[in-house]
Amino acid sequence: APRDDDSHYFRSYADNEIHSVMLQDTVRTSTYASFILSNPSLFDGATVLDVGCGTGILSLFAARAGAAKVYAVDASDIAVKAEKIVKENGLENVITVIRGKVEDIVLPVEKVDIIISEWMGYALLYESMLDSVLHARDRFLKPGGLLAPSESRMMFSLCEAKEVKKERIGFWDDVYGFDLSSMAEEVYDDAIIDVVPEESLVSDPTTIKTFDLHVLTPKKLDFSSPFTLTSTRTKRTKAWAFVLYFDTFFNTGRTLLSPEDPAYEVTIVKSDEPNTAEVWAVGKPGRGELKRRASSKSGEKGKKAMERYEKGYVKSFSTGPASLRTHWQQTVFLLREGIPVEEGTVVEGMFSCRKSEDNSRELDVEIHYSVKPPGAEKAGDTIIQIFK
Ligand code: SAH
Repeated sequence: APRDDDSHYFRSYADNEIHSVMLQDTVRTSTYASFILSNPSLFDGATVLDVGCGTGILSLFAARAGAAKVYAVDASDIAVKAEKIVKENGLENVITVIRGKVEDIVLPVEKVDIIISEWMGYALLYESMLDSVLHARDRFLKPGGLLAPSESRMMFSLCEAKEVKKERIGFWDDVYGFDLSSMAEEVYDDAIIDVVPEESLVSDPTTIKTFDLHVLTPKKLDFSSPFTLTSTRTKRTKAWAFVLYFDTFFNTGRTLLSPEDPAYEVTIVKSDEPNTAEVWAVGKPGRGELKRRASSKSGEKGKKAMERYEKGYVKSFSTGPASLRTHWQQTVFLLREGIPVEEGTVVEGMFSCRKSEDNSRELDVEIHYSVKPPGAEKAGDTIIQIFK
């Protein structure tokens, strides 16, 4: 029989429990809400596709922000409940729930103005739902249309991870007076979902990879990225783990070009040049063809755009140790050998992440690293650890 990575996956989203966890993650849900609701000029009159609608919450936000039409798609049984919820909130004229995989469905319209989706998994890419969003983008998003969110960054840092190590490894040393420590062996083979306190970080975090959803291709989701982490600890300690988390951005701030000219909107995108932004004037979504496209990278216009960009038509949230806890927590890669660190110790290496061969919804991670103490001529041997 052909392999089936989907049935179990979509069954896991059928019950209430997981949806209540997500909805009660206020960092997550309120960032989506505030982006959608604080950009009515974007959503007003727009046609929207919600990839993986679950209970339909993002579609309800979009409808509240004035969307003319929302297609809410989910392949899980939860879609039946979403349909009920839409009716009970009197929005069945705006929101149409479609049960099915976004890869397989047909829409009554050819293209949409905006795609909204909450696709992020543990360690960002666990579940491989981003592939489906990119698929939907290529099939259904109008040229110049908007993805919300528009960008995610995978962050990586070194940490002491004392608590995680104690709870997951140390625990086995003495269980009712018996030595069960051989049980701890396999703990190192898996990535661990847990929270680490900010104080546990030993280095500043580094961006291991940026995912720009507007241009990203599915092939790029299996990747290797080099990293360099420098210890900021003044007192010697041991780093027992790498920690990974992600930040998510709702990046494209579109706003009315001018109150007198409501048919146009400008898209503001940060430019490569410092303190400037690119301004794109385009026809309003849902109001026919693209009428005008103008760009300004620098000068007064660019500066003004940057100001507006920074004033926050843009939203973001972090799942890192320094931020409020989310249901994603952090992903901890416990090391068999603790790394002795002091101020200036450099840990350099390669982080590789790919879909597991056994199940495309799971990830295989490989971390190669070497350690260079401050003042040392060169780094020590490369150590490799594999996580499933
Ligand atoms: N948007 C909701 C639910 C997010 S969870 C919220 O923010 O609360 C992700 C949902 O996407 C799950 O319900 C899952 O069944 C659905 N999903 C994942 N991949 C999908 C695909 N390829 N096609 C349709 N639905 C998908």
